[in-house]
Parts: sequence; structure tokens; C-alpha cells
Amino acid sequence: MSPPTHFKLNTGAQIPAVGLGTWKSEPGEVRKAVSFALKDGYRHIDAALIYGNENEVGQGIKDSGVPREQIFVTSKLWNTHQPNVKEGLQKSLDALGLDYLDLYLIHWPVRLVPNDTSDTLPTNPDGSRAVDRSWDQSETWRQMEEVYREGKVRAIGVANWSIPYLEELSKKWTVVPAVNQVELHPFLPQHELREYCAKHGILLEAYSPLGSTGAPLMSDPDIRQIAEKNDVSAATILLSYHVSKGVVVIPKSVTEKRISSNKETVTLSKEDLAVLDELAAKGKAKRINTPLFGWDLGFADWYGSVRSK
Ligand code: NDP
Repeated sequence: MSPPTHFKLNTGAQIPAVGLGTWKSEPGEVRKAVSFALKDGYRHIDAALIYGNENEVGQGIKDSGVPREQIFVTSKLWNTHQPNVKEGLQKSLDALGLDYLDLYLIHWPVRLVPNDTSDTLPTNPDGSRAVDRSWDQSETWRQMEEVYREGKVRAIGVANWSIPYLEELSKKWTVVPAVNQVELHPFLPQHELREYCAKHGILLEAYSPLGSTGAPLMSDPDIRQIAEKNDVSAATILLSYHVSKGVVVIPKSVTEKRISSNKETVTLSKEDLAVLDELAAKGKAKRINTPLFGWDLGFADWYGSVRSK
């Protein structure tokens, strides 16, 4: 059976199962990568204001010649814009050269307060990040619902939210998040979060599926063994893991051959999925992305609950 090419959001819209990530895609590379990916068949691009490259992503979209309405474009509200979602959104739309987004996410459940040190990653005098610990995420979500109702974004969601954070938000939301984009791979399978999101109709998106820069998970012996057995690359196994489980995956690459092969997923057997699901519980649990703000707020479970059910 061929793997699914699309999943359905709780808005009723379709989202392509594989999208192109753009974090750390340098200016000069990302325009070409986006244009190539779209000409090669991708219809889903994952962007964010903080990546600092949205204008090139937008240029790549235009260069491709693929009509805007055929492309699913995601961007993310940066932490310093939490008190003013409209302003953050407009910055992304202007940089991308678009008049709407298909999906807009709260990038992290943390408000940072801009100061003299920086507009984007401000620090306190002691060097720690300038986190506003009293900020109520439900206010950010209320403003997300507002831009959604105004039609500038066709779906809204969150990124990097743990179950307790989602539970708290659920007391106030009138629009259920369409997506929760989190770090997800066999070493951080987040089984409980997966169940929680499924129960609430929130689609999961897997970021850093290859282990981020340098794709370190591809050299893991257990992953390589499954790749050899299936006669595909380790990247294909790591990406197919998600699509086979009903999860969107957004691998980043600026290398044409890799961009091309990353969109070709395969259906993994129940046995292979079970092996991949258990790797974290067998001592391989690992979180790769740990930015220097707000971890003590508890928005993410450090090892993302490695137990499988
Ligand atoms: P990935 O796990 O996608 O890995 C990217 C790295 O893998 C790059 O070094 C890339 O190299 C390499 N690579 C890609 N494909 C292959 C392949 N087939 N064979 C060998 N190497 C390969 O990392 P990211 O952390 O970038 O995650 C993906 C996307 O998720 C991001 O770009 C971003 O859009 C999103 N994200 C969201 C976050 C959030 O907080 N919401 C946080 C982190 C990521 P090269 O480019 O040189 O080909």
C-alpha cells in the first residue's frame, strides 16, 4: 500500500504529509531550495519569522511558478510578538510576499520581552533570556483566533506544547489548535502527547526528523539495519516513520538530490514501527533542540515520555 500523501486538518483542509523545512537554510541557498522543491512536486513549505529567511522563501515560491493556491505555507509567531499577533503575522506576510498563510503557529509557549540587547532574543543582565513568566498563553491564543476569524490565516496551531500546556489552553480555546509541531523521531517518540493530540483532533507535525543539522540519526545502527532490510536510505526510514503513523514531517534540505528523495516515503510494517517506537525506551531517548529560554516553565517533557503503550 502506498503511504498517504495528505492528512486532514480539523478545519477540513488537506495538508501534504511531507513539507520542506527551512530553518538554517542560508540566504543564497533557500530561494533555490524552495523553488526546486516546488518544481519537484512539494506543495508544503515550513517557514518562520525567526529563521530570518522568509523573504527568500517567498522569492523561491514565486520563482517556482507554482500557483500560490496550490501550496500549503506555514509560518510561526515569534516569542517577542506574543502580545501583538497581528504585528508578528504581518511581518511574516510582508517578508514572504503573501496575503495569507495556510497555517500559523505559536512558535514556543514563551513570551520574550524585547529590550536593548535584542528585538528577537533579548537577555537579562545575568545573561539569561528575558522571559515574561507572568504572560498568559491563552491571551496569545485569543489573538490567534482573531487573525484566523479575519481570514489571514486558514488554520492556527501551536509548536512545542506539552500536554499540561494544551490542557490549560483547552479551558479557554474556542478554536482547537489544528496542529502541534514538535521535535519527534524514534529517540523522542512522545507517545503520550501523540495520544493526547489524536484524542483532541490536533495533528502532529514532526520537526528535526533526521536529528537536525548533519542528520545524526541516520548513522544510528538500529535505524540503518531497518533501512538495509527495506532497501531504502536511513533518511527514508526516519521520514516514513511519521507518515506511516499519520504524522506530518518537514525535513530540511538545501541539497537537490536530498530534497527529491526525502519526499519519497514508504509504508513501514507494523514490526518495523514497533522496533522504532521502542528505541527511546531502550536507552536511546534524546532531545536535540533545547533553546535557552523557559525550559523550567515545563512546556515540554524533557524526554517526551519514552514509554510506548
Ligand atoms: P532535519 O532533521 O530536517 O535535518 C536537517 C539536516 O539533515 C540538514 O543538515 C540537511 O542537510 C540534512 N539532510 C536532509 N535530508 C538529508 C538526506 N536525505 N540525507 C542526508 N542528510 C540530509 O532538521 P531541522 O532541525 O531543520 O528540522 C526540520 C524543519 O523543522 C526545520 O527546517 C524547520 O522548518 C522545522 N523546525 C521547527 C522547530 C520549531 O520549534 N517549531 C524547531 C526545529 C525545526 P542539507 O540541507 O545540507 O542537505
